[in-house]
Amino acid sequence: MFELAKIPFTEVARLAQSGKALVILPVGVVEEHGAHLPLGVDSFAAEVYSAATAPYLEEAGYEVVVAPTINYGVARAAIDFPGTLSLEPETLRSMVVEIGRSLSRHGLGRLVILNGHRDKEHMKALDDAKEILLTEKAQVLLVGFVHDDAVTAACYRDGVKQFYKSPRPDREGHGGESETSLALHAFPETVRQEVIPQLDPNFDYDVEAFRNETKDYWSISGGRGYFGWPQAATAETGKQLVTVRGRNIANVILREWGSPK
Ligand SMILES: [Zn+2]
Repeated sequence: MFELAKIPFTEVARLAQSGKALVILPVGVVEEHGAHLPLGVDSFAAEVYSAATAPYLEEAGYEVVVAPTINYGVARAAIDFPGTLSLEPETLRSMVVEIGRSLSRHGLGRLVILNGHRDKEHMKALDDAKEILLTEKAQVLLVGFVHDDAVTAACYRDGVKQFYKSPRPDREGHGGESETSLALHAFPETVRQEVIPQLDPNFDYDVEAFRNETKDYWSISGGRGYFGWPQAATAETGKQLVTVRGRNIANVILREWGSPK
């Protein structure tokens, strides 16, 4: 796996020549995730899952290049929490389109956008970017959290249920068991571990308003900013999530594109 920002142009030229290059563009956001997790969870998650996906694609014959993460996104639901930053959807769309165009110009025509942030406007902006790029002949896929729930399920939900310890897995969400587990495993230095024992379960919230984004996170979580029970999280669960989801995401990509010729 290559990191685009850490290699010289000559290596990019070789990768383009090989015809086997596949670029992953991780997309996240700056958004609150409760008092125990950092604002960058979704960006870090997109990077962790990109790295976990790469080996399976390499096994299939691709040369994987991970582009620098887009760390900003559309985050209107949590905008009342200090530190949450939101772009306008068209800003995000333009960034993705312009990055995709630049890659194509250099012969890197296969682009996988791996999104770590679930927000309807954010995901729509990525969808729109993908559609625009597809009219310009680039091969583009959107994985991770996407509008098409079947793809989200195939990436993030397939084969992970048995790892959860929460008594109410149906109420786990933003900042809850899953994201806390991932953070404890993959970026523990950013977790305020001393805060976690003080966090009561947040199971009794308006699930429909949360899923459909009809109310903001502050009001539906009572200012807590997390949904579910962070105390159910373990680093071991996080490790298992990364392994399974990395394979899942690679399978989604390989189902669409197969191996490089
Ligand atoms: Zn998140």
